[in-house]
Amino acid sequence: MTVHSTDKTIFTQRESEARSYCRGFDTVFTSAQGSELTDAEGNTYIDFLAGCSSLNYGHNDPDMKEALINHLLENKMGHALDLHTDSKGEFLRTFEEHILAPRGMDHKLMFVGPTGANAVEAAMKIARKATGRTNIIAFTNGFHGVTMGALSATGNGYHRGGAGMETQGVTRMPYDAYAEGVDSVALLDQMLSDASGGIDAPAAIMLETVQGEGGLNAASPEFIQGVEKVARKHGALFIIDDIQAGCGRTGTFFSFEGMGVMPDIVTQAKSISGFGLPMALVLVRPDYDVFGPAEHNGTFRGNTHAFVTATVAIKKFWADDAFQRELAVKSDVLREGLAAVADLVPGAFLKGRGLMQGVDVGTGELASAICGRCFEKGLVIETSGNEDQVVKVLAPLTTPMDQFRKGLQILRDATTEVMAGRTRIAAE
Ligand SMILES: *Cc1c(COP(=O)(O)O)cnc(C)c1O
Repeated sequence: MTVHSTDKTIFTQRESEARSYCRGFDTVFTSAQGSELTDAEGNTYIDFLAGCSSLNYGHNDPDMKEALINHLLENKMGHALDLHTDSKGEFLRTFEEHILAPRGMDHKLMFVGPTGANAVEAAMKIARKATGRTNIIAFTNGFHGVTMGALSATGNGYHRGGAGMETQGVTRMPYDAYAEGVDSVALLDQMLSDASGGIDAPAAIMLETVQGEGGLNAASPEFIQGVEKVARKHGALFIIDDIQAGCGRTGTFFSFEGMGVMPDIVTQAKSISGFGLPMALVLVRPDYDVFGPAEHNGTFRGNTHAFVTATVAIKKFWADDAFQRELAVKSDVLREGLAAVADLVPGAFLKGRGLMQGVDVGTGELASAICGRCFEKGLVIETSGNEDQVVKVLAPLTTPMDQFRKGLQILRDATTEVMAGRTRIAAE
């Protein structure tokens, strides 16, 4: 028996048709280090997907790994419900010291079941309980998860269709720059102010500052400030879903830093554990910390392994501004690299900001052809957007510069080859 089987029949025969990423990256992965993946045949790939931004610090960070191994070797708590543990205490102290205090945030941390959707569910429930209202405003192309509450706030019709029933309690409004010539904030305010506007007074207005799944639409600071103002004016809580855009992805720990806003609630998941371990939390202003004991409970609210790695991640990357300065440089390199890719495709343009950027190549078919060619050339990269038309770079933030440039070069070469193939076909 070989140690690493390259046989994929078990997946196609026994795993549900609901599987998705594995279809585009059709190999058997066996190990990963930093920004590189290795498959069962020994091929290596540069990872520009990073678990959809769940691996912002790369795979198997040596310091997080060591802390986790020591935790296991010392028989520290594995599962602990939401009991006090030294690991949770250390995480809370670290998060307070390096994240909340320097940013003047008085939010409390509510741990929820370990997925992003669970954090969004909790956020929506908190807003409803705190205001006594049911309606929540979400935006076109927003993605907030696929459990019922979160799904109602998700724009994508394919995902909402999976509910098998009506998704309820959410009014969808146009995101920033959604319709040409329409001021989305003014429209929202006008409709909420109009007694015949048809929108019930909202418990909350919820947005992503950069829509991760929705095509890397980056809202302007003016839009985000405007939405906060409208929320305050109409007695609604202001929620930022920072599950994908947070943890440094846009260049700062929170994606809304420097924009002059202070959300009542922030959701975090994906990279919060730092190591790809399941972990999610809700940051909530003390005034809105309205749940009683176990009112939104969950068996896995105290993933001690994730607390251990999350603590290392914050101490290692966020105790000073060195990492943030590196991200600013890398964002510029990314923008330049993607501009060169966009130049190869007529009509293509750049999307996103920070280390969350991509190229809109016009069609999902072309974007998927480019990503497919990238994979053949040793780069894992995915699409996003309402038509999957955006080639999206979500490299680990820690990717060494030479490897980062190499990945961008593969993307450029793959785009050149795909476009040349099309020119050839068109000419024949
Ligand atoms: C991924 C994501 C979610 C859902 O997180 P899961 O862990 O997949 O449930 C919610 N909101 C945003 C912005 C996301 O990117």
